[in-house]
Amino acid sequence: MDSNYLEIKKWCNERKVNLVAISKTHPVESITLLYKEGQRMFGENKVQEIMMKECQLPPDVQWHLVGHLQSNKVKFIAPFISLIHSVDSLKLLQEINKQALKNSRIQNVLLQVFIADENTKFGLSKEECFSLFENKETAKLKNIRIEGLMGMATNSDDEKKVRKEFKGLKKMFDTIAKKYASDNIEMKTLSMGMSSDYKIAVEEGSNMVRLGSVIFGERKAPITSL
Ligand SMILES: *Cc1c(COP(=O)(O)O)cnc(C)c1O
Repeated sequence: MDSNYLEIKKWCNERKVNLVAISKTHPVESITLLYKEGQRMFGENKVQEIMMKECQLPPDVQWHLVGHLQSNKVKFIAPFISLIHSVDSLKLLQEINKQALKNSRIQNVLLQVFIADENTKFGLSKEECFSLFENKETAKLKNIRIEGLMGMATNSDDEKKVRKEFKGLKKMFDTIAKKYASDNIEMKTLSMGMSSDYKIAVEEGSNMVRLGSVIFGERKAPITSL
């Protein structure tokens, strides 16, 4: 695990790409090993799992939520979450703002955009994403900062297709970055790329990759005994 991690970390550093180690289903011990190598950004896709791990690890771990987030669970992660990658509605954004205010925090978030051709993945359509930036309600949210976009490409061996999806999201990111900048919009992060496609994603302009299995090995069954 370690040699793989160090190699990938170096690869990312050379390209100024942030590496989020996706530790879902892996035990706290595995996270600790990477922490000792200097890794600080860790990502999970479930609220319960991230809470359980957060209280067992040092306070300087930067926790990222990459999975779907329900509004009624925002309050549990609001005190500590470093970046939420998966915002897909104004309602969710408003709840995050409310909870961030309660915690006297400015919450960094990414909007998740649907770029794959599979209908199993969450996210905003391109049109929905632009209308969120246009919406006057968004501008009122003083305790959030939209710092970029997240997208997942189709799970496919067709490199051309995957590349095209990433290219599309990068284009959208650039357009938004040019057009919208305000107190709570500061576009700087483009989160795209997982174990199977991160090299393509970085070639297409990603500056944050979310890597699980290439670092930790294959996932075990989800932790359900919570
Ligand atoms: C699980 C997950 C990843 C990491 O997947 P790997 O293929 O193991 O690298 C990245 N992003 C999201 C949103 C995930 O749920």
